Amino acid sequence: MSRITYVNGRYLRHRQAGVHVEDRGYQFADGVYEVIAVREGRILDLEPHLDRLDRSLKSLQIAAPMARRPLEVVVREMVCRNHVKTGIVYMQVTRGVARRAHAFPKDTKPAVVVTARSLAPPSEAAVRDGVKVISVPDIRWGRCDIKSIALLPNVLARQEATAAGVYEAWLVDAAGDVTEGSSSNAWIVDQKGNLVTRNLGTALLGGVTRAALLEACRDAGVLVVEHAFSRDEALAAREAMVTSTTAFVLPVVAIDGQKVGQGKDAGRPGPVYARIRRLYEARVAAALAGTPMRPLQKPAKVA
Ligand code: PMP
Repeated sequence: MSRITYVNGRYLRHRQAGVHVEDRGYQFADGVYEVIAVREGRILDLEPHLDRLDRSLKSLQIAAPMARRPLEVVVREMVCRNHVKTGIVYMQVTRGVARRAHAFPKDTKPAVVVTARSLAPPSEAAVRDGVKVISVPDIRWGRCDIKSIALLPNVLARQEATAAGVYEAWLVDAAGDVTEGSSSNAWIVDQKGNLVTRNLGTALLGGVTRAALLEACRDAGVLVVEHAFSRDEALAAREAMVTSTTAFVLPVVAIDGQKVGQGKDAGRPGPVYARIRRLYEARVAAALAGTPMRPLQKPAKVA
């Protein structure tokens, strides 16, 4: 079975699919993207992903390449045509093709690429025993709330993590606070027992999984505090976690080689993770069963 890729209105064989050499995404990273999870052939959280795509496009003054409904049709088509049961849809919109010059070109249509492929969910071992992270300086730009395809600092951070044999790199800002992971949001259970994740703003991406979990926690009466936490607080935390579309929620059991938690349970996933994981699984199960979900909270506006 050959993979199919959508490029600017056409469904092409993946091997033959390509974009123009003067696509501004290729030359300037002048574009945005989304990654959406597929489970049992169903697309999870499509609306909040498309909402975020709209926000990213607006922030960069890139026109929407097509209306929401036709775009949804393309996403569903791609899942069907590629026979994806468990996997991801990747969509990228760039400012389009134009002769290379920094300023925005006039009358250029945005370019869209959508791919879909199978991808195994996190391993049972990762879900049960947890993953390790390292911390690295956050060297990114000032608008990390935009899901830009300019991911070089994230790539370098993840490469450091990979070279260190760990799952993720947590990015630490100049104040010593953790912003997020290279492709995930970061959470801790602090020494007082508060579940903490950094508040939204321009320093981090408003994760769709983060928003979904916040809502699930609110519904279940689990208090979450949204404020910055430092690397030191993370090292002293009772528990730590990461969330993302591809990771869902995974326990972090070591940071920079130091076990998370104290006493005999140090380095082992904790009770808050277990609860959060159940909440998340229940939410996915409800979505797959077709139970209407309450709309996600709108992320806070960023000036
Ligand atoms: N932060 C960054 C930098 C990311 O790349 C991602 C993954 N898209 C996330 C957080 C998590 O976002 P989501 O839950 O929407 O996948």
